[in-house]
Amino acid sequence: MIETAERTVVDGIEKRLFIGGEWRDATGGETLTVEDPSTAEPLAEVADATPDDAMAALGAAHEVQAEWRNYPPRERGEVLRRAFEKIVSRTDELALLMTLEMGKSLAESKAEIAYAAEFFRWFSEEAVRIEGRYAVPPGGAGRMLTMKQPVGPCILITPWNFPMAMGTRKIGPAVAAGCTMVVKPAEQTPLCMLALAQILEESGLPGGVLNVITSSQSGSVMGPLISDPRARKLSFTGSTEVGRKLIGQSAGQILRVSMELGGNAPFIVFDDADVDAAVEGAMVAKMRNMGEACTSANRFHVADSVAGEFAEKLARRMDAMKIGRGTEEGVEVGPLIDGAQRDKVQALVEDALGKGAKALVGGDKVEGAGYFYCPTVLDEVPRDATLLHEEIFGPVAPVASFGSEEEAIAAANDTEYGLVAYVFTGDLKRALRVCEGLETGMVGLNQGIVSNASAPFGGVKHSGFGREGGAEGIEEYLQTKYVAISS
Ligand code: NAP
Repeated sequence: MIETAERTVVDGIEKRLFIGGEWRDATGGETLTVEDPSTAEPLAEVADATPDDAMAALGAAHEVQAEWRNYPPRERGEVLRRAFEKIVSRTDELALLMTLEMGKSLAESKAEIAYAAEFFRWFSEEAVRIEGRYAVPPGGAGRMLTMKQPVGPCILITPWNFPMAMGTRKIGPAVAAGCTMVVKPAEQTPLCMLALAQILEESGLPGGVLNVITSSQSGSVMGPLISDPRARKLSFTGSTEVGRKLIGQSAGQILRVSMELGGNAPFIVFDDADVDAAVEGAMVAKMRNMGEACTSANRFHVADSVAGEFAEKLARRMDAMKIGRGTEEGVEVGPLIDGAQRDKVQALVEDALGKGAKALVGGDKVEGAGYFYCPTVLDEVPRDATLLHEEIFGPVAPVASFGSEEEAIAAANDTEYGLVAYVFTGDLKRALRVCEGLETGMVGLNQGIVSNASAPFGGVKHSGFGREGGAEGIEEYLQTKYVAISS
């Protein structure tokens, strides 16, 4: 049962669509149900947008684009700065909201709120640093001027696993660059995005710049927007499968596209690594968000001589984790997002066990209400186990051993994904060799986390293209115009 304090926080959030600076019900008054994954009970009803609502949102974004691009950069930055302050001052209430709709522990929700807010602070500072270039061409005749201009109205689609940070990571640079936008959060976690829209509204963002559509029919609601010539960019975070489909749809209008897709992160431990530090790193890389992160360590490749010690120490740490509703004191492992996700994790574990892997700890779901899964360490995982090749998205750590450095790099790269890899070694030369050899957009070197608002986050291969955060993040929302000047 939901407690009074929890109900108060949920009740305080707008449940309607945010279009053109106004809150309105979906056409026809339909709603969708948001569930608490720790109990599988309904938490709230939010507006279920129709394709017409989505079109109205794009219309609103298009209408104010010309005006918004001419807003002084400092003012755009200050909207973000005020929103940053508000998010930080409301951390406790926002963290509770996030835990209720997504399941992660309160401590993890607070960490996400801090990370999410940081994108607004970072891009409030980037808004005033959009620069061009003036040059004398090599031949000396004429002059060259390049200027950066906003791309135009953007479609932003976000997943449920980081329901606030995946939003600020797109909204922050779009606002800073002078773009307007239509945002669609995942059906499971609309409340965080609605809270964010309220905060931006209170922070002085002009009506129409940000429009939020919540819907249970993502394909039919967003498809027409992607095909509409008024939209100029699509930024998507989610699965590779859906991303691939959206890239195809974007071809019609030749949209600028940014894709933050799935991962299958290798975590490599060499024999010269500090094994205890590697286990600490592994706990963060694996268990952040119950393993429901694109950056989650999906497979552990450990040097033969230390594989046994590493797996045993990791199993002890995983076994000691407290499972429960994220709102309870000391809980470290909340529920998975839904029954389908838990069934998928279970099937992957059964496949590995059937092919000869050994469960050192866990290996099954937790009986009872909610979608809980036991922290699991699988040792001696054979190469053909499906979970070494697919994104697990759950608290399961498969350990496989390797002989040589070349073998480790080859195993790490043996995937169509390329988001992030983790490397633990005490040898600097090896570290550089391995970092250069890995086919990923990011590497965590002797650390189990890479996320940082000031760094360029993104992948290669089937993990997507484009970067979010850092100096690169705003570039995704700007286009370059070159002016040839006669002199
Ligand atoms: P998903 O199923 O691909 O959904 C992502 C978003 O796309 C949701 O808002 C979803 O809406 C929407 N969507 C689904 N089908 C659509 C369609 N045909 N047209 C338009 N929108 C559509 O992914 P997820 O399960 O939410 O998220 C988990 C995935 O995200 C994992 O693969 C993870 O690795 C990836 N991820 C990547 C990053 C990164 O930065 N690389 C970060 C976080 C997560 P509905 O859910 O309402 O249908």
